Amino acid sequence: KKKIAIMTSGGDSPGMNAVVRACVRMAIYLGCDPYCIYEGYEGLVRGGDLIRKMEWHDVRGWLSEGGTLIGTARCMAFYEREGRLAAAKNLIAHGIDALIICGGDGSLTGADRFRAEWPSLLDELVEKGEFTEEEVTPYRHLNIVGLVGSIDNDLSGTDATIGCYSALQRICAAVDLIEATASSHSRAFVIEVMGRHCGWLALMAGVATGADFIFIPEKPREDNWREEMCRIVENHRKRGKRKTIVIIAEGALDREGNKITPQMVRDLLADKNGLAIDTRITTLGHVQRGGTAVAYDRMLATLQGVEAVKAVLDATPEMPTWVIAITENKIVRKPLMQAVQDTKKVAAAIESQDFDLAMSLRDAEFAE
Ligand code: ADP
Repeated sequence: KKKIAIMTSGGDSPGMNAVVRACVRMAIYLGCDPYCIYEGYEGLVRGGDLIRKMEWHDVRGWLSEGGTLIGTARCMAFYEREGRLAAAKNLIAHGIDALIICGGDGSLTGADRFRAEWPSLLDELVEKGEFTEEEVTPYRHLNIVGLVGSIDNDLSGTDATIGCYSALQRICAAVDLIEATASSHSRAFVIEVMGRHCGWLALMAGVATGADFIFIPEKPREDNWREEMCRIVENHRKRGKRKTIVIIAEGALDREGNKITPQMVRDLLADKNGLAIDTRITTLGHVQRGGTAVAYDRMLATLQGVEAVKAVLDATPEMPTWVIAITENKIVRKPLMQAVQDTKKVAAAIESQDFDLAMSLRDAEFAE
């Protein structure tokens, strides 16, 4: 009987529990034993009761639940070979021969490294007398499949990561709430959203709320961003718009690579010698990560979880480590490291689309 372990790693995201539920139940359905590894790579390295066999009913009610009920952690030990050796020992001790990991690009890169190193880790365990050659023989090939759990939608090769639509929904709901006050008092709000390297949340929230201006890391603002933003905001105000919403990603930059902060934007909008708008900053923070998963994330997590179990059973040593993606509404398997490398080119992809136009459909931008 195959033993398949499931873990969540890196930053939590809504839908991770739905992934675990789908994997556990699909594994049972296909006649395998599912295990959960608690606390991400920490659980793999420490072993013991952090690796637990799961039953069908253990994941009841997990479909909509936010965060990850099996825990996640950053694990320094897994960056070192020593830590990965301990992880290999724990997997073999539990008789686990396949691993499904739901996490961000860091976690998935670690997974690929672990798989590549696997044969030499086994050799070392035999050398050290932890296991005999006969004991490790059934585990010569470790199959690993990745699933992308991230609110940032920051992996290339997939249309959506598990959790991103829940976070986007949360941001839009927050902006809707803020808009009441903004309109009432004719104020401006600078809203900081998550996204250190990837501005998908800020960009899509900008489109979905009709924000006046946005800042994202992939598209550093020109030197004249101050004039540009003030001109647009002033135009909107002249046409009778009483509220101003500026959305800024954590990793917003200018062309020189300098950080653009919410404070800078606020000071500019509030400048007595300029627009002199009463301006407040709202940092949404971890509210964006929380709450139940939206329908899309539940669906994505479930379909991808099912596919991950099938993929991990199909994989052979010659095949690359797979990540489960969604492209053009189809659930597909893709080489994991290709997707990680392509992610670096994502800025180009964003510039090629019509988001500038979508952003410009705000109040009267073309009504001149
Ligand atoms: P995310 O998965 O959300 O991108 P991190 O980059 O913090 O988050 O990665 C989560 C964990 O994955 C790390 O704490 C570490 O244990 C493991 N990890 C990340 N990158 C590597 C790597 N290159 N080699 C080994 N382990 C890694």
